[in-house]
Amino acid sequence: MKYKYLFIFGIFFISSCSNEIVQNNEEDSIYSQTYNWRLVTAWPKNYPGLGMAPEKIAQLVEEMSNGQMKITVYGAGEQVPAFGVFDAVSSGSHQMGHSGSYFWKGKVPAAQFFSGVPFGFTSDEINAWVYRGGGLEIWREIYEPFNLYPMPGGNTGTQMFGWFNKEINSLDDIKGLKMRIPGVGGEVFKRAGGIPVTLPAGELFTALQTGVIDATEWVGPYNDLTFGFQQAAKYYYYPGWHEPGSMLELIINKDAWESLPKHLQVIIETAAKAVNQDTLDEYTARNNRALRELIDIYGVDLRKLPEDVIEEFKIIANQILEENAANDPTINKVYQSYKDFHEEVSAYHAISEDAFIEARNN
Ligand code: CA
Repeated sequence: MKYKYLFIFGIFFISSCSNEIVQNNEEDSIYSQTYNWRLVTAWPKNYPGLGMAPEKIAQLVEEMSNGQMKITVYGAGEQVPAFGVFDAVSSGSHQMGHSGSYFWKGKVPAAQFFSGVPFGFTSDEINAWVYRGGGLEIWREIYEPFNLYPMPGGNTGTQMFGWFNKEINSLDDIKGLKMRIPGVGGEVFKRAGGIPVTLPAGELFTALQTGVIDATEWVGPYNDLTFGFQQAAKYYYYPGWHEPGSMLELIINKDAWESLPKHLQVIIETAAKAVNQDTLDEYTARNNRALRELIDIYGVDLRKLPEDVIEEFKIIANQILEENAANDPTINKVYQSYKDFHEEVSAYHAISEDAFIEARNN
């Protein structure tokens, strides 16, 4: 009898040990399997702000995962063209992409709400809508049919209206003007009589200098100075009514995303969130000095758009947003969420930030 008990005990002991070994092996493989991913961008390689955001995400992910995940970042044109990022990640030829969602208005018109909308959210407001106001869930829902998983990946803050060789004194001066301006801002510009074009970053300076376009918007002083627009245009107009707080996007192929262990997904989301804020801080810290340089060293003529021109752009922008929503149920769904949040946040900001900034500046 004694031996029989010992035998049964032995069987239990061996089988519980082997269960533990299987479990340990599984845990080991979760942490030992390495991932080498490729990230394509719509920006020139290592471009300040926009192009460095994905580099920083890649660096953080590698450090936080202790080297388990390595992401190689490619500039526009290195593996796919600037405007080929969406398709490359959607098809799975590349696992990740970094760009601005309004570049995809021809594929997903509703995507534009997740970059910049004329007279829409500021940076703080779009972050609040996306992370705390239901925006992220809707964004993931509209990208799902394209097998994409999006998240915020940077923010430029409020942009400038842009570079012109002609003074803008009235709406008549917009008529026939060929300007690089993407997204809903471009639609507004068109209805006001202008001719909007979409060009990738790398082609802007030459297009402006050679007269292919009459004007261009880009980002703000920090980025615009590096492209040398001050050598190709005389007037620098503000405010950037068309892009009040543009968010950048990090997109991930959904199958690739789902193949990752949970801890690497958390690391990527956390790195992207940190860089989303860090990029905004970089623009806030660098724009002021760059603006002084543009004015003091290069003699750029800084101009404010006339009030009546801004007012007209605002009226047109609201018409276009309402019309687009009425014509497309997906746009309507995003727009209603955007609009409700905008109304609430604007009401409070009117008596908090806006009132304070007005008091500070007077
Ligand atoms: Ca812009």
